[in-house]
Amino acid sequence: MPELPEVETVVRQLEPEVEGHRIERLEVLDERWSRPVPPGQLGDAVAGATIEHLGRRGKYILMGLDGGRTLVMHLRMTGNLILREGEEMLDPSEGRRLYESERSTEERHLRARFVLDDARELWFTDPRRFGEAFLIEDDEHLAERFAKLGVEPFSPEFTPRALGEMAVGRTAPLKSFLLDQAKIAGVGNIYADEALFRAGLHPLSSAGSMKPEHLEALRDAVVAALEAGIDAGGSSIDDYRDARGEKGSMQEEFLVHTREGKDCPRCDGTIVRVVVGGRSTYFCPGCQVKLRRRPRRRAK
Ligand SMILES: [Zn+2]
Repeated sequence: MPELPEVETVVRQLEPEVEGHRIERLEVLDERWSRPVPPGQLGDAVAGATIEHLGRRGKYILMGLDGGRTLVMHLRMTGNLILREGEEMLDPSEGRRLYESERSTEERHLRARFVLDDARELWFTDPRRFGEAFLIEDDEHLAERFAKLGVEPFSPEFTPRALGEMAVGRTAPLKSFLLDQAKIAGVGNIYADEALFRAGLHPLSSAGSMKPEHLEALRDAVVAALEAGIDAGGSSIDDYRDARGEKGSMQEEFLVHTREGKDCPRCDGTIVRVVVGGRSTYFCPGCQVKLRRRPRRRAK
């Protein structure tokens, strides 16, 4: 499932390619993608607009259009946003064209297609069809729409102190705490595991039990885990592909995620898998410490 690093990779690749280009037309081939707005209505609203910028908020892709409007897209579980240059992929880095089998798979899962003014196409493909898009009229409504979304991990607001304020009194396990999009935006199952390992914190420790040194370690670890993901072009465990249709390589660099039974990269422990809040969670019991609950003041 794409998380912040995967979405950021796509946005960084696409921005210089599509910025300043006009959308000749948007064909919405799956009504689930635009609902409750009918596909034709969204297509008509976007046709003829110029893409002024491309950005990201949490796991959302923000396509800024002229007139102050923003087309917001979310890849959800299996969505991909891929730029296609005629019959070829964008920048076939090794001169490789798509194999026929890949081509047909992409076509089969095509949910929406942007046709740009230079005949290149931006394809939203999505086998499981949870991806979505909606149009926001202006910046005020955009801010309103994202008012309840948590802090951006790369923003100056993401401080140990802010983390502490979010965590105070929380008995939820750290793993669940990190996955809460209303607290920190963009962290999902993969990078939560990686961040907790980097911070040396046990995923089942309660969030409210963190002391100042843990808050600082966790803040740094979240940022470092996400940066590692971006540097590797994202993780392609399942369906994720970047804007060029290529796999990311972060899955080859995971410290703990999906590494059950393997050696810990830090101590002589072995990585284990547990389920926390319904999500597979990987950690090292040897070096990720379970924090003690802060003692409650005893009533007289
Ligand atoms: Zn270890």
